[in-house]
Amino acid sequence: MQNYLTPNFAFAPVIPDHASGSRVWDSEGREYIDLAGGIAVNALGHCHPVLVRALTEQAGKLWHISNIYTTEPAQKLAKKLTEHTFAEKVFFCNSGAEANEAALKLARKYARDHFGEGKNEIIACINGFHGRTLFTVSVGGQPKYSQDFAPLPPAISHVPFNDVKALSEAVSERTCAVILEPIQGESGVLPVDAEFLHTARRLCDENHALLILDEVQTGMGRTGKLFTYEHYGVTPDILTSAKALGSGFPIGAMLTTDKIAAAFTPGTHGTTFGGNPLACAVAGSAFDVIKAADTLENVHQQGEKLKAVLKDLGDETGVFKEVRGMGLLVGCVLADEYAGRAGELTQEALKHGLMILVAGGNVIRLAPSLLLNDEDREEGIRRLRLAVSSWLGKQ
Ligand SMILES: *Cc1c(COP(=O)(O)O)cnc(C)c1O
Repeated sequence: MQNYLTPNFAFAPVIPDHASGSRVWDSEGREYIDLAGGIAVNALGHCHPVLVRALTEQAGKLWHISNIYTTEPAQKLAKKLTEHTFAEKVFFCNSGAEANEAALKLARKYARDHFGEGKNEIIACINGFHGRTLFTVSVGGQPKYSQDFAPLPPAISHVPFNDVKALSEAVSERTCAVILEPIQGESGVLPVDAEFLHTARRLCDENHALLILDEVQTGMGRTGKLFTYEHYGVTPDILTSAKALGSGFPIGAMLTTDKIAAAFTPGTHGTTFGGNPLACAVAGSAFDVIKAADTLENVHQQGEKLKAVLKDLGDETGVFKEVRGMGLLVGCVLADEYAGRAGELTQEALKHGLMILVAGGNVIRLAPSLLLNDEDREEGIRRLRLAVSSWLGKQ
């Protein structure tokens, strides 16, 4: 097929055509088990009937009306999000990057409103990932995503993830926000240490800075709770969500308290599409299915089974040295001799009818449907075993 898109994406050699649950079929009718979940987006698998109904019903009612008006789907979704989290107010947008952009702008504005101009520094983590806008690549801790786009916004500094001492030295009264992911997703499925997260909370409190948790990848049931901060007992001031929030329909959200939200006075921030009724109707229905106790229990159970069998595979073949993650966000760290070659293994898996992800060069990442069942998990693992032995056979 001729490619008319800009070359920043390197496409896989197959063209997905349709899908259902955890199975995908390409344009030639080949079937795949999907343990990638559209990069942690398709939380309810593909074409879940509840979402199809929500989308088609709303499509016949009202698609877009602009933020000059509010709509029932937006208010209903915001009500659900606030009733089940620390938050009291929600800003809707279209992506994770936009949710973080809003969070960072709000943190700067809040600090300026309450403490004057000097309080504007943002502390983030090395290898963090927060999106691809200029502000979010600058806050993200991977220079390869930002350096070509310099000059970058100033007053942003980075500390090593989980380095309590470095964090303590970095946060000061000039800090307006500390931002981090509860599990660094893109750079290797690396969970935050409880001590680091608790220290971040304490330092923010002591310095009147805001704690922003980027739960774009870890939120909406992915780790077995609605949001991952619940596992740690640390409450953020601002939380961002996207990916699984719309379970395949583009939507992002920034959640915060009434007090902090007040800094976003009319006209200070905006979006054309954010919170449109189509997106909010789908996300509202997805919320109910994700929040259901049996879904979250399934995440826990399937996650444990998946990790156990991946550990076995690692032990048997020597291909993985560690399997980590929470719930259905799982990372398999390649043994040292295969370091940097995760991409090769995902390509081999695709040839064997399995969709999986990388997280950096050394980690295979799985982020399947939260409704994954035994049959699809077992078939996926069977295909992964074949892919691993065929790949190892080529070494
Ligand atoms: C994917 C991701 C983003 C960016 O989301 P987009 O929807 O691609 O803008 C931000 N933060 C984290 C933690 C992510 O995983």
